[in-house]
Amino acid sequence: MKDRIDQIRHRIYSAALACDRDPGSVTLVAVSKNMPADTIRKAVDAGLRVFGENYIQEAEKKIDAVADPRLSWHFIGHLQSNKAKYVVCGFDLIHSVDTLKLATEIHRQAEKLEKVQDILVQVNIAGESTKSGVETRNALTLVEGISRLSHIRIKGLMTLPPFFDQPEKVRPYFMALSRLREEIQAAGIDNVEMTELSMGMSGDFEAAIAEGATMVRIGTAIFGERL
Ligand SMILES: *Cc1c(COP(=O)(O)O)cnc(C)c1O
Repeated sequence: MKDRIDQIRHRIYSAALACDRDPGSVTLVAVSKNMPADTIRKAVDAGLRVFGENYIQEAEKKIDAVADPRLSWHFIGHLQSNKAKYVVCGFDLIHSVDTLKLATEIHRQAEKLEKVQDILVQVNIAGESTKSGVETRNALTLVEGISRLSHIRIKGLMTLPPFFDQPEKVRPYFMALSRLREEIQAAGIDNVEMTELSMGMSGDFEAAIAEGATMVRIGTAIFGERL
């Protein structure tokens, strides 16, 4: 696993340099869904510190089992409002906020814990009927709505684009998310930072970096195929 991780690090580094970006501006989020706590510990030994999980119950068990204060856990899966309280306790960043209802619930839970919860707004950049995420044309309005919630801090945008074998075909969607970020940034909304762009997975992270990704979410390329 160490070799695979080193290789991915190297590819991130090269992809960033190739477009004149600082390699340090791209965070590797290791997507550890379906992977047991032991595997996560090995990844930590190999130097990884940021892990992305999709399912709350599974994640809670593993966060407790691994119990390593050096780690940062991100929630990247689909989230229902009634599960917000579980996510606010354990996760530093929630990538998948796509409705005001969900954001309001996260805000309420964060207020109870006297915490300000960092989030990303998930955008359904290709308008696919099967995917979560706010529609591109409604994203600005959603960001404005969420910006009024004092216990939430919006850090940027996330997307899960359509799947293609060739990364170059995904690139227009990465570009579209990057543009949307600029539009929202230009609107200058209080309490909204648009510093993060979470996009790119095992098969296409280099294209995402070329379009400005600051977080790449990589599972299979680190841990192998999920069973
Ligand atoms: C599973 C998952 C990933 C990782 O996908 P790989 O192709 O295994 O790298 C990234 N983002 C989200 C939201 C996921 O659910």
